[in-house]
Amino acid sequence: MDVVTLDRLQAENERYFFARLRSQDKVVQLYEQPSLQQQALDLMPVSAMRKEARKESEQTGRDERDCLMGQVNKWFYGSFFRWLDKPKCSRCGTVTKNIGILPPTIEEQRWLVGPVEGYKCPYCGTDERFPRYNHPAKLLETRRGRCGEHANCQALLLRSMGFDVRHVTDWTDHVWVEVYSYQEQKWVTCDRDYFSREREGKKLSYMVAVSNEETVDVTWRYSTKQNEVMQRRLHVSEEWLARALAFLNYQKQQKLSPARRETLRERSALELAEFLSNYQKQLEPKHTPYTFTPTDEEINSKRLQVQYCCASDKYRRGPKMETFLQGWKSGTAAVKSVFRKYEHDWTTVLNYLRSRGVKEADLTTLRKGNAFLSRLPSSPTGLVSWAMDFSTSGLVIDTITIITHCVTMESGKVDWKLEGDDDVVENLSFSSQRDHKSHTTSSLRGCKTLKLTAVLSGGRGKLAWKHAQLCSQPIDSEGDSSLDIAVTLKESTA
Ligand SMILES: [Zn+2]
Repeated sequence: MDVVTLDRLQAENERYFFARLRSQDKVVQLYEQPSLQQQALDLMPVSAMRKEARKESEQTGRDERDCLMGQVNKWFYGSFFRWLDKPKCSRCGTVTKNIGILPPTIEEQRWLVGPVEGYKCPYCGTDERFPRYNHPAKLLETRRGRCGEHANCQALLLRSMGFDVRHVTDWTDHVWVEVYSYQEQKWVTCDRDYFSREREGKKLSYMVAVSNEETVDVTWRYSTKQNEVMQRRLHVSEEWLARALAFLNYQKQQKLSPARRETLRERSALELAEFLSNYQKQLEPKHTPYTFTPTDEEINSKRLQVQYCCASDKYRRGPKMETFLQGWKSGTAAVKSVFRKYEHDWTTVLNYLRSRGVKEADLTTLRKGNAFLSRLPSSPTGLVSWAMDFSTSGLVIDTITIITHCVTMESGKVDWKLEGDDDVVENLSFSSQRDHKSHTTSSLRGCKTLKLTAVLSGGRGKLAWKHAQLCSQPIDSEGDSSLDIAVTLKESTA
């Protein structure tokens, strides 16, 4: 395919996508109509619901508005709306059979009708129509349908009661409602089976929430499979999508008061934090803490030495330094917001070192690429620790030698701490640029346990997370180690 065709295809995708982003705008505008809201309120047992909500709030301490939201939904599900897969025959009550799509009547077209599904009674032959109305006023009258009608009608009722409501569309053909919870300070879902969608094997891609004030990509509230989902988000570029959403929100929010815009900004910041925490949860699956304990051989030689190589991502120990554990995390006692970065491109570091006057000739080994541990880009700090326990050996710690290779740039920092039994603590400083640093200490002499902790922080700009690197080494140096902990042991004198 030539470039011109590709460009045209891309432009078509974007046009289609933009139309889809705006497809709910017309309907959510209807929720704002005072006459329509009044029509909805007239159908609801408002004072009874308010009374119940007040009572519930007094009893439970929950926000009264959230209790009222619960009352509206309870009434909606329980008394108002009827789920409808197929209509029953209006004459004899038999379940009808689908006979395809019918042309809409003039009357049906008045109410933003989608497809009109045709059904026939297999018993008496009566024809039934199921017009898929999109106008919420009509749904107040029909009170039936599937998720589309359900969400549309529920959104109008909640909006009429003063709640902040969003209409959410999942590109895999499902819709539901989100309401802002004052108790939880976040958007909550009014869809009783939304959470099972990923487990049902839906190939999720985009989920977009729309109100009269916002259009928001809410995919990451509902999906924890970021890698999989990203591979399906190919309709438009993520950058284009971000710009399109920014444009729509600018349009929608121009008419709002500065105070309201500020409220939305605050909510939006919290919402992004919520999405990021979902992302981090996925990157950090349950970690089983590991503690090194001495083998018989190590007890006899009164020495335990462990090496970690970040290039091969292996731990080694023993007289022959054989591979002992695979994967950096498997040998750690605690991990918080840290990951292993294996990169062929070391441009950031090279540019920095060049700017500091390092000669090209001295940079050749760096161009091969590097492996290191770093904090997650979304997190201001990262922590990793390693632990050893000698309490069953009858021996205690004599000296500890730690050799490590860290790289810090700009204001990036790695803070090291060594902890023994009780309150024995020593803060270590290895923090110079690009150096193997060796530190020998006897500050934990007599202790039975040790814990070595590194905290990564600081840095500047978009790549701040990269400005503090732990166990950094070239990717072709698999025989080396970038963390080496050697402990000599002695008989306990106690
Ligand atoms: Zn019938």
